[in-house]
Amino acid sequence: MSLRFYDTRARTVREFTPLHEGRVSLYLCGATVQAPPHIGHIRSGVNFDILRRWLTHKGYRVTLCRNVTDIDDKIINVARSEGVAWWEVSERNQRAFTWAYDTLGCLPPTVEPRATGHVPEMVELMARLIDRGHAYAAADGSGDVYFDVRSFPDYGALSNQRVDQMRGAADSADERAKRDPRDFALWKGARPGEPSWPTPWGAGRPGWHLECSAMATKYLGPAFDIHGGGLDLVFPHHENEVAQSNAAGDGFARYWLHNGLLTMGGEKMSKSLGNSLLIPEIVRKVRPVELRYYLGQAHYRSVIDYSDEALLEAAAAYQRIEGFLVRAGEVVGEVAPAAEVPAEFAAALDDDLGVSPALAVVHGHVREGNSALTEGRKERVADLAGQLRAMLGVLGLDPLSGQWGGTEDTAGLRDVVDALVSVALEQRQAARARKDYAAADLIRDRLGAAGIVVEDTPHGPRWELRRG
Ligand SMILES: [Zn+2]
Repeated sequence: MSLRFYDTRARTVREFTPLHEGRVSLYLCGATVQAPPHIGHIRSGVNFDILRRWLTHKGYRVTLCRNVTDIDDKIINVARSEGVAWWEVSERNQRAFTWAYDTLGCLPPTVEPRATGHVPEMVELMARLIDRGHAYAAADGSGDVYFDVRSFPDYGALSNQRVDQMRGAADSADERAKRDPRDFALWKGARPGEPSWPTPWGAGRPGWHLECSAMATKYLGPAFDIHGGGLDLVFPHHENEVAQSNAAGDGFARYWLHNGLLTMGGEKMSKSLGNSLLIPEIVRKVRPVELRYYLGQAHYRSVIDYSDEALLEAAAAYQRIEGFLVRAGEVVGEVAPAAEVPAEFAAALDDDLGVSPALAVVHGHVREGNSALTEGRKERVADLAGQLRAMLGVLGLDPLSGQWGGTEDTAGLRDVVDALVSVALEQRQAARARKDYAAADLIRDRLGAAGIVVEDTPHGPRWELRRG
């Protein structure tokens, strides 16, 4: 079966064929860095990281461009209320986003351009639009530059709306400066006390939509394969991006993929709710890899309604996978990931990135693996463990990979701890053998106090570190 995705613009599932054989160019709208991220922001990063890993697994060379919007009304307002420079707010929050992406195991983008580093590209794009009659400098001399939506017949095609049913863009100090209230700002004229950059039409700062068109085109070319982002960006942001780029003569994105939103109690995440869902708060409740499992397990286009219970259920599901791999390792030694993933798993991901059916294959392997362990079928255990590692690698969830603590340093340390715990457990067995249960219990309690949980199994005692 071929690879296919739901394309927002076509409003149907389309077969995916890249512009250039063997290569995929992917643009993802990144953060507007006015505040640190909550899990709703990072969900998009996780969804598209899985897409990128799957494309890479299929042999494509993927170029991922994920921008940073480092100048914006909200950033300026935060800076003003704190009495600091706008760039101080941007820098601080960009670091928080990078930390969150890294913590959740999202591979770094190929390039991560910032808006303020691309003003010449934006000026060039505006000049092309003005030349072609699709944009104009505001008649009031404010320095604003607007896109003329009436000049572009396809306006509304991405979000499936008719222009005469749209409301005004409400992005100008004086709407009378516009030819049509729906015209949107490409560039915002300088205001006192705000940062600005010079242009032929006056000093000012970029509009959000213009930034993405300019940066996508600079790094991925006038036409590229996939544009991604959250569903809340379809209108106006992506509608305006495609209008700007198509009107300027660029083919722009060939497929539009949008991830569903994360809600709480059925409502869109508000700032007050969002605070309890900042990444450092959540990774106190579950481990980062468990949070990644939680955010990635649902279909990327579905809504996730956050609850602590669902988060803990996801963590428990992940621990079942991990538990099998750890026990398998104890019986057959460390198994390398298989070169190929099971066909059923591949078919699920090929079908519009069906992570939920793909995870059903993963859990099926875990169940069979646990039976094989009980029955002592070592070859089958090793086989299943290798397939599981291959599948989990594609999802960015392999607990034995370097990414999740299986680094040489910690693996070495685990061997040392393992040897020490083994000595203690031998002493405990010896105490039991001579019916000195008080001594045996004392050893178990001392291990417990050190965070080591001992479980007695038919194959002898095994240990793991207590979580949480
Ligand atoms: Zn964007």
